[in-house]
Amino acid sequence: MLNKWEGIVLKTQPYGETNKIVTFMTREAGKVTAMARGAKKPSSRLASVTQPFTYGSFLIQQGRGMGTVQQGEPLESMRHIREDIVATAYASYAVELVDRLIESEKAEPYAFEVLVQALRAIEEGYDPEAIALFVEWKMLPFTGVQPILHECASCSAVDGEFAFSFTQGGFLCHRCFHQDPYIIRLTPTQLKLIRMFYSVPIEKIGKLTLKKETKKFIKKISTTIYEEQTGMRLKSKSFIEQLERAPQLFGANFESKKEASEETENPQADEN
Ligand SMILES: [Zn+2]
Repeated sequence: MLNKWEGIVLKTQPYGETNKIVTFMTREAGKVTAMARGAKKPSSRLASVTQPFTYGSFLIQQGRGMGTVQQGEPLESMRHIREDIVATAYASYAVELVDRLIESEKAEPYAFEVLVQALRAIEEGYDPEAIALFVEWKMLPFTGVQPILHECASCSAVDGEFAFSFTQGGFLCHRCFHQDPYIIRLTPTQLKLIRMFYSVPIEKIGKLTLKKETKKFIKKISTTIYEEQTGMRLKSKSFIEQLERAPQLFGANFESKKEASEETENPQADEN
């Protein structure tokens, strides 16, 4: 069966002298692995379209066993992502996260959309760290966590002060703080940001400039959820940590192209 699918190249693996095994996240069929014959040869018409992060339209022949890539047309080549080491690092993280959380051959249009939007935003020069963080929050349901962020997870109150509770899987109001000794208290801005990361589309988040401490705070919460729920350790995360510790070693520039001079933390996008 010959299928025409839109997909993003998540990863490739060399196979033999000249072939690549390519893992795609497709819009129509979810995560799919297929052989791209000859794609390791620079002269191959499949060489550039099967590079990681490429978003393209692919003809994939499927039969018994692994499918084969017959043709590929790039829709967006994501060149900036490949050329900028900081962009590469965070885009790799987003891609690896999707790869690890999504099962093969099951359509997941939401996860596909999250990934396309994230890569596009990084490609356009928005803060890649914030975008990767966005992917973390958006992909939470695939770890089995559906955080309760619109009300108190215990008593359903919507007013009062709030904190984040890992044991309750979401927000707790001040009336229920006693239920969890390890709550993380939230300011109204932090509360709003967490909701936004979870529920607002990336076109709106991409334009938001976040302070370093804000990102750190939001990341602390999602990292803890991931570690406790999945125990996943991603290769690309170790790389980001090295990059942050010693950027000069990698010639990295952490100023994103579109960073505004003023820091704003007032999400325009409200959750109504
Ligand atoms: Zn409560």
